[in-house]
Amino acid sequence: MKVYISADIEGIAGISHWDEATIGQPGYEAFREQMTRAVIAACEGSLAAGATQITVKDAHDSGRNLIPERLPEPVQLIRGWSGHPYCMVQELDRSYDALLLIGYHARAGSAANPLAHTYTTEVSQIRLNGQAIAEFHLVSLTAAYEGVPVVFVAGDAEVCAAAKAYDAHIETVVTHKGIGQSVIAPHPQQVLRAIRQGVEGSLRRLSAYRPRPLPDHFQLEVDYKDPARAYRKSFYPGCRWVADSTVRLEVSDWFEVLRALEFIVLT
Ligand SMILES: [Zn+2]
Repeated sequence: MKVYISADIEGIAGISHWDEATIGQPGYEAFREQMTRAVIAACEGSLAAGATQITVKDAHDSGRNLIPERLPEPVQLIRGWSGHPYCMVQELDRSYDALLLIGYHARAGSAANPLAHTYTTEVSQIRLNGQAIAEFHLVSLTAAYEGVPVVFVAGDAEVCAAAKAYDAHIETVVTHKGIGQSVIAPHPQQVLRAIRQGVEGSLRRLSAYRPRPLPDHFQLEVDYKDPARAYRKSFYPGCRWVADSTVRLEVSDWFEVLRALEFIVLT
């Protein structure tokens, strides 16, 4: 069994300030440690369920957060960013049996996590076919595009609810709940145990999971915080400037959504 784990930090239990997500800032080392422990727990659950190959993508900011030597030995770790539009699931392909998400978080524009965003803090919302989306939706649709099911999500309460709404089969572990600039979190050890057990349980039921079908048309809308940025990005091929701060793209191939996001949101 071949497993892909994508790991972010804003949905790691208890994280509540951008300093704690930023290399060199106060509190970062503690949450980098907790992010590493959460990925180790997911790896242990995967191995207990029979995984023979595990790829981990360090998918936060610089892509250089996880402490490589701490991960169990079968793990292949992807650090940094290649620039491929698959982004947080770089190198994912149909040879994988399952996608697991660790440390995922609420979407841009949400009040449910003080660190809520989608890909960047420069946008106030990204909508797909009218629905405001999180990074969870981007990687889940990419996995579906490759025929890989998402089976497990650990992250804040909102992303776990979004995962259940996307596919009720997805096993979730809530790491914290945001209220204003605060978060309310269970004990970190309790979260690690739940991740290990949840991953093992979901992978043991792997035959029950199917990738969800992709829509055959995509309307992507990006609301930028800065209208001048929206105007400039509207010149990406196929985009239209539909309101002061909003750019719209209509395409039928999911990869074209990802390619556009790489240029109109990530760069
Ligand atoms: Zn992040």
